Amino acid sequence: MALYGIYGKHTTEACPWNNIETAKKLKEMDESDLASRASEFKISHILGQYHSALEHTFLWLVEAEDPHLIQEFCVTTGLASINELKIVPMITFEGGVIPGLKKIHSL
Ligand SMILES: [Zn+2]
Repeated sequence: MALYGIYGKHTTEACPWNNIETAKKLKEMDESDLASRASEFKISHILGQYHSALEHTFLWLVEAEDPHLIQEFCVTTGLASINELKIVPMITFEGGVIPGLKKIHSL
């Protein structure tokens, strides 16, 4: 398992606050038990979700086995139909940044 970020954004016009069709899709997603659907795609946990409503952006942090399965999750659930998405591998400060500094600078 590894950590991945799902960065998303949509236009003001497509925002669920402004667009009834997008709002309906989001409501369907919410009613579909997203956590159990995530497990079908080997996403073990949705660890956090930050949403910036006025910027129309969000970041979800997930623990998962395969970024390609995260992509399938996003398509299957409809998340990708209303948002532009970027899936990126993430590391922790202790697990990635510090060991990298120690290697680069022989600390
Ligand atoms: Zn929005």
